[in-house]
Formats: sequence, C-alpha cells, structure tokens
Amino acid sequence: MSDLIRLTNLTVTYERHPAVHHVSGAFASGSLTAIAGPNGAGKSTLLKAIVGELRPAEGSIDRGALTRNDFGYLPQAADINRRFPISVADTVMLGAWKNSGAFGRFSRQDADRARDALERVGLSGFERRHIGSLSAGQFQRVLFARLLLQDAQVILLDEPFTAIDQRTTRDLLSIVLRWHKEGRTVIAVLHDFDQVRAHFPETLLIARELVGWGPTQSIMSSANLIKARAMAERWDEAADACLPEDETASDDLARQEPAR
Ligand code: ADP
Ligand code: MG
Repeated sequence: MSDLIRLTNLTVTYERHPAVHHVSGAFASGSLTAIAGPNGAGKSTLLKAIVGELRPAEGSIDRGALTRNDFGYLPQAADINRRFPISVADTVMLGAWKNSGAFGRFSRQDADRARDALERVGLSGFERRHIGSLSAGQFQRVLFARLLLQDAQVILLDEPFTAIDQRTTRDLLSIVLRWHKEGRTVIAVLHDFDQVRAHFPETLLIARELVGWGPTQSIMSSANLIKARAMAERWDEAADACLPEDETASDDLARQEPAR
C-alpha cells in the first residue's frame, strides 16, 4: 500500500503550547487506523490538523493530490451544536455540499440520496425531525448518514462511539468496516481498546508525542500503554513549543525546562 497522508515532524500548538509534538509517519492508502492515547494526548488536535482545520506550527502534512473535499470529518460530539434549528434531512444533505456548492440548492437527487443514507443507518422516516429531538445514538446515526452521502475517500472520526448505546455502536462500526472494505482510508480516535484490537489493523498511539504507530498487535502492548500514561502525566502543560525561532534550548531542554 502506498502512503496517502504523510506527517513529517508535525507539531501543532495552541498559543505556542504544543498539543501534538514532533510526530512523523504515514497513513497508507486504504488503511484502517485507530488513534489511541490518554485524555488530552492531542488526538483531536491531530485529526483537526490532518483535515486542515489547524495549521502545523512546525513540520508538515503531505496530503498528495487530496483536496478538502476528499476528507469526511466527524468531530467529537462535544464540538457539535445540536441546538441549531435544522432538520435531520437537511443535516444529512449538508454532506452533499461538495456537489451543490455552498450557495447551490439541494437537488431532488440529493434528497433521494439523503433518504437512502438515512435508511442505511436505520433512520427511515426521521427526515423531518429536528436534530435537537434525537437521542445521542440517533444523532450519531444522522452524522454517519451525512458521511455516507459525502462519499469521501478519507474518513476521520473523533470518538464516534463515545456515549453511544451498544446497538448503535455495532451498527455504525459495521459501516466503518464497510468503508474499509471499499478501499477508503479511515482514521478513528477510539477509547475502547478491545474495539481497537478487534477491528483496527493499525494503531497510532499518542501522548503528545508518538508512543508507537504500526500494527495494532505490537503497538497496543501493555508496555506501550503504561508508557503513554506516564508520558501524559509527565507532560508540562505550560511548556512552550521548541519552534525554530526558539533558540534558548534544544528540543528536550525546551520541554523539560519551560520556565523563563
Ligand atoms: P485529546 O483529543 O487527546 O483528548 P486534544 O487534542 O483535545 O486531546 O487536546 C490536547 C491538548 O490541547 C490539551 O491539553 C487541551 O487542553 C489542549 N487544547 C485542545 N484544544 C484547545 C484549544 N482550542 N485551545 C487551547 N488548548 C487546547
Ligand atoms: Mg479529543
């Protein structure tokens, strides 16, 4: 498999504080990768950088010939405003934006495809419901229907099954596995390690810095998981990024001795 997205010494910061630090490696075309790591490890930040919502402070992301439209992105539930007054059908059809253009009108065909997508996620007949009236599981199904409609080559999911009932998790996981079979590249932040081991061939384990990236079997060892937790606990929130203009210290010193 060839590399589709390559990260080279990637550092992403919030006001100079690194959330993702010196990460290098590549997602192969057609790979199915879990991103795992402790809370605050930089998992969501990494996804946002890959889709282009955040810019690297240092290093780079090579997406080859991919454009923004080739990425389907499901943010973490906490980042989504469900009070926005919009129907289930319209929410799904937003996935068709790349076809209609932001100012275009939804076509009859879009509406048909939205209905098909809702059927595939088990929500036939929900078209006119307000998204605020749905359960967490039903809303996640709507967002998956939108991804189905979007038909992207690369799909990034941020904790798609957190706080979601078991049946919905099973149904949506089967959609993820089908995307993989179809040859799409899928990257999902997950906290359920059993799920990762059972279904995700590749794992990227991160605690701000990379702990390991490769076949799940070898990456999700207890030694690596202990190391990830220790790295997360040791991390100095206040540390500045060791950016090129920061000439006061080497990389390691900048991280261990942030006080100036
Ligand atoms: P994870 O998804 O692994 O829990 P995040 O990528 O959300 O981790 O966060 C990594 C670090 O970046 C955390 O310390 C978090 O507090 C910080 N962070 C995340 N988002 C922001 C933001 N918008 N502004 C400032 N700091 C942020
Ligand atoms: Mg997160």
